[in-house]
Amino acid sequence: MAKTYDPNNVFARILRGEIPCKKVMETEHALAFHDINPQAPTHILVIPKGAYVDMDDFSARATEAEIAGLVRAVGEVARGAGAAEPGYRILSNCGEDANQEVPHLHIHVFAGRRLGPMITKG
Ligand code: 5GP
Repeated sequence: MAKTYDPNNVFARILRGEIPCKKVMETEHALAFHDINPQAPTHILVIPKGAYVDMDDFSARATEAEIAGLVRAVGEVARGAGAAEPGYRILSNCGEDANQEVPHLHIHVFAGRRLGPMITKG
């Protein structure tokens, strides 16, 4: 069943300009901005402009142009941060088990230090 999108989530409000963000880049389909509580020297969030709850929703409903736009934006953000070398990590929490806090799809881009193990043990 399709997930219901909450149009008042914090990233929807950022997209509408109702609350500020430290913008990194913007394209037709994506917006990138610094995370308010960075977990690495570089911690940027890349979000689609469309109303998608998470990767499950986005991968099922987004257009090819929206999908390409988001992926291109992630690569551009990482290159722009100087992180293509020595490297970076992308992460997207989807749903309850992943502890997703904000119900608008977002890709975290972490860089700027050795990032440690991929995932904590359960
Ligand atoms: P999640 O746990 O949903 O994958 O990650 C949500 C992220 O959004 C967290 O890293 C959190 O710090 C960030 N965040 C929450 N509210 C705001 C906000 O108002 N502005 C910005 N820039 N980041 C936010």
